[in-house]
Amino acid sequence: MTRTTADVTFLRGYNQAQVLAVGRTARTFERSTVVAATGLTPQAVSKVIARLSADGLIRPAGVRRLGIGKPAVVYELVPDSRYAIGAHVARRTLRLVLVDLAGAVRHSTVRPLPADFTPEQLLDALCVGIGTITADPALRNRLTGVGLGMIGPLDHANGLVRDAHGLRHWHDVPLRELAEARLRLPVHLDKDVTAGVTAEAWRHGATFGDAALIMVESGIGGGFWLGGAAHRGAHTNAGEFGHTVVDLDGPVCVCGRHGCLEVVHLRATEAGDVPRAARVLAIGVVNLLQTLDLAHVVLAGADLLRHAEVYRAAVELAVRTDVRRADWLAPTVTLSSLGADVIAAGAAIQVLDQLYGIPDLTPGAPPTTVRQHGPTGDYRGVSSA
Ligand SMILES: [Zn+2]
Repeated sequence: MTRTTADVTFLRGYNQAQVLAVGRTARTFERSTVVAATGLTPQAVSKVIARLSADGLIRPAGVRRLGIGKPAVVYELVPDSRYAIGAHVARRTLRLVLVDLAGAVRHSTVRPLPADFTPEQLLDALCVGIGTITADPALRNRLTGVGLGMIGPLDHANGLVRDAHGLRHWHDVPLRELAEARLRLPVHLDKDVTAGVTAEAWRHGATFGDAALIMVESGIGGGFWLGGAAHRGAHTNAGEFGHTVVDLDGPVCVCGRHGCLEVVHLRATEAGDVPRAARVLAIGVVNLLQTLDLAHVVLAGADLLRHAEVYRAAVELAVRTDVRRADWLAPTVTLSSLGADVIAAGAAIQVLDQLYGIPDLTPGAPPTTVRQHGPTGDYRGVSSA
């Protein structure tokens, strides 16, 4: 592909993503709304609206009369025109959600996973769970793929689970490839916390600046949204926030170091001292704020949500008082807007985002290639042009 063709492909994807973002955040919109919100030309917006209407992603929802002259067509997003399935693979459970094009969770289930489950056991559970959700053939035809939010460390770019903490059978497992073969659907694999922060970013829209999602669920992790995109790091291993040391002489952690945030927090929860556990987490969050200067901190994870208010209050207090001149630096501290579904929903949203979000801006990145499946559930590699 020549550079010019790649630029055109990129621009098309970019313009389309801008219009869809307006459609997700506004109940209805018209051409002039999109022009004002995006800065695109009226001609460019018309082209994108025509293409999205033809694909069934948006539809006319009436007209608005402005006195004399041609009435303006009002459009709306068609949420059930596309779906994605998201999975949150935890150490003991598999949560599956169905998410529509608007990012709304339409269905959510949790099933237990066998203790110390193997890759084969996870694939079996995914097959059964996804088979149940997609029993309706009309829905399967609108399914864009499956997102897996998994325990790390993992290699997102190559779809490999490197060495999932606390699971013995997971060393360099090519999970994305295995799942695509079993499910016959495109699969996107990412760290649980990165999937979670993507869900929050999609739901908040352009107001979501530099942010972190802190997850406490059989361990502590952090997902980062920096400069308007998920931050995965040089080896896609960013997020091991629980393994930053807060006590030099502290207890030995599963990672082998002494006094990691995760093990110090664990000791407090084992002693039944939830306020202290929350305070430990809050110290970690302040360390993070001092390093990254974040605008939003989102708290998530089953273990945290069981004592949501204690944790939220402790983090809120720490960011107001532990940082010098916190008055002009204080970020917002909120609980996840999606509760226990946030990781699975984010994994599904990552699939939708690959197809309908802002294309990859990485300098020198190849033109965006997406995999789409046909009506039979098979898929083929196609360029987003
Ligand atoms: Zn550690």
